[in-house]
Amino acid sequence: MIDSAYLTVGEAAALLRGGEISSVELTQQSLRRIEQLDSELHAFLTCTPDVALMQASEADRRIARGEAGPLTGIPMALKDILSTRGVRTTCASKILESYVPQYDAGVVERLRQAGCVLLGKTNMDEFAMGSSNENSAFGPVRNPWNLDRVPGGSSGGSAAAVAAGEAMFALGTDTGGSIRQPAALTGTVGLKPTHGRVSRYGLIAFGSSLDQAGPITRSVRDAALVLQTIAGHDPRDSTSINAPVPDYGAGLSGEVRGLKLGVPKEYFGGGMQAEVEATIRAAIHVYEELGAEIEEVSLPHTDYALSTYYIISPAEAMANLARYDGVRYGLSVPGEDMWEMFGRTRDVGFGNEVKRRILLGTYALSAGFYDAYYLKAQKVRTLVRRDFEAAFSRVDALLAPTTPSVAFPIGEKTDDPLEMYLSDVYTVPINIAGICAISIPAGFVQGLPVGLQIIGRPLGEETILRAAHAFEAATEHATRHPDVTAWAAVAS
Ligand code: GLN
Repeated sequence: MIDSAYLTVGEAAALLRGGEISSVELTQQSLRRIEQLDSELHAFLTCTPDVALMQASEADRRIARGEAGPLTGIPMALKDILSTRGVRTTCASKILESYVPQYDAGVVERLRQAGCVLLGKTNMDEFAMGSSNENSAFGPVRNPWNLDRVPGGSSGGSAAAVAAGEAMFALGTDTGGSIRQPAALTGTVGLKPTHGRVSRYGLIAFGSSLDQAGPITRSVRDAALVLQTIAGHDPRDSTSINAPVPDYGAGLSGEVRGLKLGVPKEYFGGGMQAEVEATIRAAIHVYEELGAEIEEVSLPHTDYALSTYYIISPAEAMANLARYDGVRYGLSVPGEDMWEMFGRTRDVGFGNEVKRRILLGTYALSAGFYDAYYLKAQKVRTLVRRDFEAAFSRVDALLAPTTPSVAFPIGEKTDDPLEMYLSDVYTVPINIAGICAISIPAGFVQGLPVGLQIIGRPLGEETILRAAHAFEAATEHATRHPDVTAWAAVAS
């Protein structure tokens, strides 16, 4: 039988259509691999084998009827922040440990309609707050390239599951880098769409003006396929963009001649690992050789983006998390009166990082400090967005690193939140500006993957996918996979 572990979605779909493998077989292989690997990786919080096998049989019937789409019968995983009807959705928090949503998120609905098979819900930083997956209330995820390293966060479970061949693709969410950063650290492809391109309905809110769901895949074409399925207007999300969805696969020609690519000078140097910089410079050179025009650009307010993000996102988070009070959702710890119940529920239910963000957000919004912090941050947000607008008046997309370093050891930054926040320095400006970006494998440093970030205009997904695909086609990086036989009993 065909070993499906590292097939791309496109390859698996062709095999399904040709009758060479069934969705039930693909799904069984994925489930077996999860059994073999996940006691070490801990990428999944909930595994749903019964749902998966039922959906796989249904997909096989649909394929037999000739009614299959490109994702029909493909086994996938969803970050546990996306509401799934009838399937526990925890946000990796004790406060939602036994919460079972009564409805599907908009993106989940679309994937179900496309005939995807749900393997389970993936581990993450609690409420998506983190850059290493160490903030999960249920224990960290490990990086399949080196189990002592973090996989990145907050969508670390989704990225690890895809990198290790447990799932054929996964969805993550990205508020300040949480799709791209774990994709970079696990050698996968991660796309954060333009804010509003993909429905936020049923995505448990962290920072509503920043949150966006998107694909984590093993190829750029797969990212295009998944985006095609989940993108589009949803009237249940008031910030959803009502614009036609282009054919994202159409432009993937391998051709970048005529494309103008900017290199923001503020995204290099500083605290960046020298070998990571060298890898990104080499990637830029590949584009030059492919015939793209490379031009240095400046995004002068980059230095302020991180502090802006760490004012705005906690402010939005404290408002969004006010709903967890022991009355309406999830955990409820009794007290003498209502206030004591609120306090106890939150004390037991939320982890330290979530409490820290609520405190930060409450402080930034409080009378007397609002003007100095929140209002100022909103003004700087406009300046950051204008930097990108100016750059995009000259170039079609930007090339940059995704992260300043490769995957760091588990435990290295947990005592120093500021140090942890610094790992988002190249990803948060994109969310602040509401634009789109993709991270793709660009090479390896000491056996660990490095991510190249390609940043696009609002609704510029076609262009960044095209540029990403050309690099992938010209290099071998995406064909390398972690050697899981080093730590798990599976055939290579
Ligand atoms: N690391 C960032 C944070 O902790 C971004 C998280 C995210 O994108 N969800 O806020």
